[in-house]
Amino acid sequence: MSNKQFIERTLVILKPDAVQRSLVGETIKRFENLGLKFAGIKLALAKKEDVRMHYTVDPDWIKITGEKAKKAKEKQGINVSESAEEIGERVLESLIKFMTAGPVVVMVIEGAHAVPLVRKIVGSTEPLSSDVGTIRGDYVFDSYEMADTNNRAIRNLIHASSDIESAKKEINIWFDENELLNYSTAQERFIYDIDIKNILQ
Ligand code: ADP
Ligand code: MG
Repeated sequence: MSNKQFIERTLVILKPDAVQRSLVGETIKRFENLGLKFAGIKLALAKKEDVRMHYTVDPDWIKITGEKAKKAKEKQGINVSESAEEIGERVLESLIKFMTAGPVVVMVIEGAHAVPLVRKIVGSTEPLSSDVGTIRGDYVFDSYEMADTNNRAIRNLIHASSDIESAKKEINIWFDENELLNYSTAQERFIYDIDIKNILQ
């Protein structure tokens, strides 16, 4: 296969709400339709420690998430006395509760530019403002406001790695090396090969 240098792997988790709402097929078909493939895929029950490890592969995540949440509250005219770290830690606790509430589908998706492509299809964090045409924009309508009011995590169906480095770390949390397969698909010849031959007979 040519264009090997562009091939990336990214970690996707269909969160418990996606499984409960029977949206597994609907969501993963979008990755297949695009021409990406699965290097690994499984149904799993997430462990609390794994969820914590997963969301803290970026050590700044707690603070950044707390700051975003603080800004969202202030936009609603609510004054927040807690620090960004305290809020971020609370979001993480609510995420752990959410992600361990039921089965999840964990997968490694592979293909050229897989990391940014999958993020594009997934859409932005808050479904209320995610673009139409994205998974989060099309199948769910949760908001920071609703989640905050109930002190719970935003239900946005799906996780996707944000960059190649975190993808590598996240994949290590959820998969053993022998669960990931290297193989080619029939369509890749058309997507990646320089010379397309032997079509007409
Ligand atoms: P993304 O999943 O888009 O990369 P983040 O990394 O910022 O988003 O957050 C991880 C997950 O934590 C989100 O998908 C969402 O489920 C939840 N979350 C983030 N911020 C909040 C918040 N302020 N309130 C509730 N849940 C949140
Ligand atoms: Mg993230």
